[in-house]
Amino acid sequence: RTVYVNGEFLPETEAKISIFDRSFLFADGVYEVTSVLDGKLIDFMGHMKRLERSLSELKFAFKPDIDQLLEAHRELVKRNDITEGLIYLQVSRGSAGDRDFAINPETTPTIVMFTQSKSLIKSALAERGQKIVTFPDIRWRRSDIKTVQLLYASLLKTEAASKGADDAWMVLDGFVTEGSSNNAYIVTQDGTIVTRELSTDILHGITRASVLKCAEELQLKVEERHFTIEEAQNAKEAFSTSASAFVCPVAEIDGKKIGDGVPGPIAKRLREIYIEANRATAL
Ligand code: PLP
Repeated sequence: RTVYVNGEFLPETEAKISIFDRSFLFADGVYEVTSVLDGKLIDFMGHMKRLERSLSELKFAFKPDIDQLLEAHRELVKRNDITEGLIYLQVSRGSAGDRDFAINPETTPTIVMFTQSKSLIKSALAERGQKIVTFPDIRWRRSDIKTVQLLYASLLKTEAASKGADDAWMVLDGFVTEGSSNNAYIVTQDGTIVTRELSTDILHGITRASVLKCAEELQLKVEERHFTIEEAQNAKEAFSTSASAFVCPVAEIDGKKIGDGVPGPIAKRLREIYIEANRATAL
């Protein structure tokens, strides 16, 4: 694989960053994952806007050059011959040559990128629907910033798998926040799509924004509000969204089947429409 490190394209075995890099020592870095369909980038500008926001919330002085990042994304797609898959981009604070809690404003950010070839449109999980288990949301209270501090999500995903489930949804003060790496939705018995409103408690999903727009165009009712696990278990449908899995139906939550326990028509329709709309505008 050819990867990208600070402006250079090189074989992954030759890519190096400092052991003092603050992303390694303090999880002081942010990232984006952009999907690739037909060799083109899905909602690239959406991801770049969120990257800028994450950087500014963490007080990075660094302003990314978006044109340059677009070029680098395209070059990496080309060099790795990716027709369908993902591009990971990480911007870390960089290194001041030692370990120090206080952030040195002089550090130069480290930018790394790599690709993952992956079948996104054809997905066994989307076809059968995910089994979800729930856990308390004990993350730091700035889940809106896309930092590389992903240990809890990673532990949950592992724990979910050990329970025979596909993913974990998190619950804060009795209400669902989001999935381990996706936003969470239900469809009520009267057909309303419900997802938690934007705040510092959840990541402002790029796929979420696009899917809610699709829902509006389909004249579906949308409510952005809190919902409980109990409400989810009694919903008509449930699903999640992310750049890497698009719209992915949920079949079961904590052992309780959602609807008939198979992907519902609204989730399936939104998945199709999302793919169609974003394919047409890919860069
Ligand atoms: N929520 C969390 C915690 C995530 O990690 C992700 C994606 O990685 C999402 C939501 C979905 O965001 P997006 O649609 O931008 O991929």
